[in-house]
Amino acid sequence: MALTGGCFCGHLRYEASGTPFDESLCHCAMCRGTTGAPAVAWFTVRPRDFKFTEGKPTKFESSEDGVRSFCPQCGTHILFQSTKRAGEVDVSTCSLDDPDACPPKDQTYTASRVRWMDDLPSLTSFPRTRAEGR
Ligand SMILES: [Zn+2]
Ligand SMILES: [Zn+2]
Repeated sequence: MALTGGCFCGHLRYEASGTPFDESLCHCAMCRGTTGAPAVAWFTVRPRDFKFTEGKPTKFESSEDGVRSFCPQCGTHILFQSTKRAGEVDVSTCSLDDPDACPPKDQTYTASRVRWMDDLPSLTSFPRTRAEGR
């Protein structure tokens, strides 16, 4: 069964079929810098198993061997493609309609991890907004 997803505003929709692999939470500085998030979860499929079913992404070369595809309207990151891994395309897990369908199985670039990520389990947690705890 295909995994489906898209960007936040709905301009981009996609389908990923086949069996996902290399499900990972990436802490690298480029994932952080291009998304503004502290880490980005990805899963990988074969390029032939991925297709945009609606919309056309904007592409950005984040390094000599990496191209990122995102929504031209809302900016949601959808794909990372490395020229070093031609037979693979990385899809952002949280652009899936159900991000729980494909959880990370490891973490990469932990040497670059922002230090406060280690403290997350000990932080005060509010089920929704902080305001409700006041
Ligand atoms: Zn969008
Ligand atoms: Zn990364």
